[in-house]
Amino acid sequence: MYKNISVKDTERLHKLKENIEQARDSFLGYPVSKDFNYAELSSFLQYPINNLGDPFEDGTYKVQTHEMEKEVVAFFAKLFRAQPTDYWGYITNGGSESNLYGLYLARELYPKGMVYYSESTHYSVRKNIHLLNIPSIIIRSQENGEIDYEDFENTVRMNRHKPAIVLTTFGTTMKEAKDDVSKIKGILKNLAIQDHYIHCDAALSGTYGAFMEPRIPFDFKDGADSISISGHKFIGSPIPSGVIITKRSNRDRIAKGISYIGSLDTTITGSRNGHSPLFLWYALKKLGVDGLRARYQKSLETAVYCENRLKEIGVNAWRNPNAITVVLPKTALEVKQKWQLATEGNVAHVICMPNVTKAQIDEFIYDMSQASTIEEEEFELDF
Ligand SMILES: *Cc1c(COP(=O)(O)O)cnc(C)c1O
Repeated sequence: MYKNISVKDTERLHKLKENIEQARDSFLGYPVSKDFNYAELSSFLQYPINNLGDPFEDGTYKVQTHEMEKEVVAFFAKLFRAQPTDYWGYITNGGSESNLYGLYLARELYPKGMVYYSESTHYSVRKNIHLLNIPSIIIRSQENGEIDYEDFENTVRMNRHKPAIVLTTFGTTMKEAKDDVSKIKGILKNLAIQDHYIHCDAALSGTYGAFMEPRIPFDFKDGADSISISGHKFIGSPIPSGVIITKRSNRDRIAKGISYIGSLDTTITGSRNGHSPLFLWYALKKLGVDGLRARYQKSLETAVYCENRLKEIGVNAWRNPNAITVVLPKTALEVKQKWQLATEGNVAHVICMPNVTKAQIDEFIYDMSQASTIEEEEFELDF
């Protein structure tokens, strides 16, 4: 039935690999770690692993990695200070699906709720709100990308008869700004809004949020009801993935038994990737909490270095507190293209993921100092 692929197609595969490798080695603009090694797991590619169903329930399909998935969920539940007896979660296809899940739970709890999110919120959120058909209001952002608490308070006050569903961001896409969950919680309390739900989109910074000094409030103890993170960003994975952590009591309200899979239909998709949980589990076993902390400190050091070097050559660079993202004015086109710098409006950024080295920063600084000052043509990609 199968034949060998042609010489031409084999060549195409080689070329593709070369291109991917080259592209991987010169990007500073996207939050993706590339320093992983999952070689020990490569034999698992032989199996039709499918984590369908709820990882915390026994299903009929046994070619799965639910044990590892549960351990990854437990790791993050603990890191995010969830009640040890009241957490639940699963591994998703990425931050967008995790956000969809948080908003879905919120809507099921408060069908008449209003969603509030800031203008710096990730683009997936607007789409998710549209999919779920929930009314929403956009709140202004401060200059640094953080939600404008005053605008938030005034807007909620005008709608105080409605349950409030707040989507906060812990690490915005362009400036890595962090909305303070405690402040949001305090405002809701002041306005005496008892029916409220806070989903924290921590896709970018959640994985290292616990290690920030001083802490920035974002987790369950601070007032979040659900938290999403990405698996392929700070930790790194060959396949994009995310994690959603919620309160178990909230999940129980939407759980429905499905006899075909012998499990509960509590996840957004039916069939689910079972390799991603294995990668994340493996990475967490290799790193542990201390390894993750060290990874963050290394990134932070590189970010400080990058910011200082840029300032030295006269570039107006800055960072939000504890951020591994350096914000700078948009660069010459050749620099943007070589380093694949995400650009929005007048700002660009360098994200110092753990694999980024000082030598790379030096090369980038050299390119910046040599680049033409002619700005790129107005062409904005709204990402
Ligand atoms: C990356 C990111 C997302 C989306 O995650 P995907 O894995 O691309 O779906 C959502 N929110 C924030 C803040 C992000 O950084």
